Amino acid sequence: MTISQDLFTRAQASIPGGVNSPVRAFNGVGGTPLFITNAEGPYTYDADNNKYIDYVGSWGPMILGHNHPQIKQAVLVAVEHGLSYGAPTETEILMAEKVKELVPSIEKVRMVSSGTEATMSAIRLARGYTGRDKILKFEGCYHGHADSLLVKAGSGALTMGVPNSPGIPADFAKHTLTVSFNNLDEVKAIFAQYKDEIACIIVEPVAGNMNCIPPNPGFLEGLRSVCDEHGAVLIFDEVMTGFRVALGGAQQYYNITPDLTCLGKVIGGGMPVGAFGGKQEIMDFIAPVGPVYQAGTLSGNPIAMAAGLKALELLCEPGLHEQLEAKSKALCEGFQQAADDAAIALTTNYAGGMFGFFFTQASSVSSYQQATECDLERFKRFFHLMLEEGVYLAPSAFEAGFVSTMHTQQDIDDTIAAAKRAFAKL
Ligand code: PMP
Repeated sequence: MTISQDLFTRAQASIPGGVNSPVRAFNGVGGTPLFITNAEGPYTYDADNNKYIDYVGSWGPMILGHNHPQIKQAVLVAVEHGLSYGAPTETEILMAEKVKELVPSIEKVRMVSSGTEATMSAIRLARGYTGRDKILKFEGCYHGHADSLLVKAGSGALTMGVPNSPGIPADFAKHTLTVSFNNLDEVKAIFAQYKDEIACIIVEPVAGNMNCIPPNPGFLEGLRSVCDEHGAVLIFDEVMTGFRVALGGAQQYYNITPDLTCLGKVIGGGMPVGAFGGKQEIMDFIAPVGPVYQAGTLSGNPIAMAAGLKALELLCEPGLHEQLEAKSKALCEGFQQAADDAAIALTTNYAGGMFGFFFTQASSVSSYQQATECDLERFKRFFHLMLEEGVYLAPSAFEAGFVSTMHTQQDIDDTIAAAKRAFAKL
């Protein structure tokens, strides 16, 4: 028995499923989750002393690699001054100013402690601002686990086969309309049907919770004009894509201006941080200036702000995001070549520092339906073969992969060589 297996048995006795977030349990791939003891740069180490090239990166935050010395230092300095005050600090202003500088559509921003809080609050704000109840989301997009958003959701909900969770009253769910990602005709049809009842569209501008699916050309532009036409708020959920696809997020990469943006993951540098922001006119509907209530005991926590601010500063290095994208591209091309050579049907997608690969006969994947039709059994086998090779991929076919600034050319080459050996055994 490995130490991870032993720990997992123990964990299951006192934690539901042995984990504090479902996909970590390896339900999507079977087997025992690895218990991690430490992580450095692009590598994680498990309790059995195995080393892995890590493409999960804590599900996105570790864009600068694990345990970055300057982020660690910023945290240590902040810790000296106390862990939390529940009163305003200058670091929060610096963070807000930095976010505004990097994401110009954000005129005002509010800090929260998770991506879920960011999207939940942005939805409430959009509803309060427009005085409308319905929201529109896309099948397979995941926006955290708030009631309104856990309808036809992606990520763990999709991995576990419960895109619609029990515990959400039908009376709530009926206000969440869902249509297909990358299908503008469905969006237009639903707006024609519900006219002035829809408060907002919320979208992952690059879908990263049903594998990795970039927007088709014209899709995001179409959402922008539909919202303009109907007075609905366009919310980009950039919890995953923010500061990753480009310094200014997917909205910069695709040059579309949303009304509100949700942030998370990278913005905390590894600490629990989320944020939502956008047009001043809308943001001023939030308490204490406006009537829409939203609050948080640990919001803007000084340690979390110190880590996140340092991460954002480090990400401003010129050329950094081009290098990240080059790594995603190299991985995708390497996987594709290796699969082609082994006569394995595979296709890949990437945008900036996120990537995905699909076991499918299709020449490209751009929809939820295609993503769910992929060969999941093959993915499971590939995942475990890669793990044996020392490569830690996301333990689900419905999650994007992430590269960091710390992945070296050697790491990428080693990963592709591992994939070659794995494909040969599939
Ligand atoms: N939105 C998106 C696009 C996400 O990927 C996630 C988490 N993977 C969330 C929201 C929820 O964030 P959190 O897990 O921090 O609540």
